[in-house]
Amino acid sequence: MRILMISAEAAPFAKTGGLADAVSALSIALHKLGHDVCIVMPRYYKINRENLTQLPGPMCVHCGYREEWTAVYTTDMPGEKGLPVYFIDHEGCYGRDGVYGVPSDTDFKDNPTRFSLLCNGAFQLCRKIGWYPDIIHAHDWSAALSTVLLRFNERHDNFANTKSVFTIHNLGYQGVYNKHNYSILSLDWNHFYSSGLEDYDQINFLKAGLISADALTTVSPTYAREIQTPENGFRMDGILRARSNDLYGILNGVDTDVWNPSKDSFIAKTYTAKTIKNKVENKKALQARMGLEVNPDIPVIGVVTRLVDQKGIADIFAPAYGCAYKLCADMRLQFVVLGSGEKWCEDELRVLSNNLPNFAAYIGYDESLSHLIEAGSDFFLMPSKYEPCGLNQMYSLLYGTLPIVRRTGGLADTVQNYNQETGEGTGFILDNLTPSSIYDTVGWAMYAWYNKPEHIANMRLRGMKQHFGWDVSAKKYLEIYEKLLK
Ligand code: ADP
Repeated sequence: MRILMISAEAAPFAKTGGLADAVSALSIALHKLGHDVCIVMPRYYKINRENLTQLPGPMCVHCGYREEWTAVYTTDMPGEKGLPVYFIDHEGCYGRDGVYGVPSDTDFKDNPTRFSLLCNGAFQLCRKIGWYPDIIHAHDWSAALSTVLLRFNERHDNFANTKSVFTIHNLGYQGVYNKHNYSILSLDWNHFYSSGLEDYDQINFLKAGLISADALTTVSPTYAREIQTPENGFRMDGILRARSNDLYGILNGVDTDVWNPSKDSFIAKTYTAKTIKNKVENKKALQARMGLEVNPDIPVIGVVTRLVDQKGIADIFAPAYGCAYKLCADMRLQFVVLGSGEKWCEDELRVLSNNLPNFAAYIGYDESLSHLIEAGSDFFLMPSKYEPCGLNQMYSLLYGTLPIVRRTGGLADTVQNYNQETGEGTGFILDNLTPSSIYDTVGWAMYAWYNKPEHIANMRLRGMKQHFGWDVSAKKYLEIYEKLLK
């Protein structure tokens, strides 16, 4: 099967979150299963052209009335020969920092042009290289337009039998812009409503993907159900209910070449379920690196996250609630936080670090520290408001670090709640997102740590035995592709 992945990000070239990991890992897994896969994405300024091969000649892409001239670069996915990644190069659109925006301007005003160029350019690229996909798989709002273009403009000749799949990695980001941008999308005004682009007289890219794609997927079974409710549907629940027969929830996998405690080069000492006693060396290394008291007897709670509202940061860190402060003041534990994002939260993390001997935060993005936190913590706190899939709770399970999560989306699908009577479970679950329920659930985990050490030890081992390989998920995507092509 020939599968074209269209995405604004793909690891390791450009990454703002789990989307980048998922696109690359799924592509690799499909390629390993013998399919002909390629990825197309923008060549952002930070992606060094010197490491890429330029295709001969320029490529002209029509974005509505605009005629854009681009170059195309390519390279194989690192470690996966024969899986090409194509980069559309255009100085005006992508010659700057930021995938969707920068901290001072989080949503570039010309994003409709930038992602119209990506989606229109993807079809032009196929013509340029003479390779036509059976499946166009678009990821998130920034690639959604490709499913609309296939449906209304392109489904003839070499694309006559091509089908589209649209994956929702996060329904909260929709790409809503002024409708004057419609004229650079290459769509006839007749399709303004039927394409799904129209949204209260603006254009909404994600909504168009939900209406136009042949099949819809999202990244966990529970999230697939939740987004069909008004509570979690971000105004799209009606459309998603109407398309529920075409909507599938497939859990993301984990790249176990990168996230694997038995061979992780970022951590102080590697370990397996059999050598779990070595995990404590990572705890000591983490305590030392963060300037905390080095003492294996004190339970460490780790947090690695984008500091955004979705992740429940207000309920943990907002000074008005004082949840993290009270936890550190009342209980014998240590808190380690790695994150960057909303300024109030970054400031508060600095205040807590300065005032509490058992609280340490690193503000920023640090790949190696994120691995050490997974390996060195005893618990991992992730009380998200909503979580399409979530990766860190899966990393935690594989690293023998017990997740403390909210019962939502992929968190509900991957963590089993502790049963204090039997010792069963793989983590600790809270239902309501409030500072007091976070406090109580962390308190419950601390009770188990100090009073039921055998339960904690067994839960760790149970978590480490879980399988989150992409091979299983990739086969589920293939089933959907096959169904569409029948
Ligand atoms: P989302 O995509 O919503 O951010 P996920 O849990 O799906 O959430 O994926 C987040 C990914 O980004 C994980 O691999 C996590 O380790 C990583 N990450 C988030 N913040 C940081 C940070 N400050 N430093 C290093 N890695 C981070």
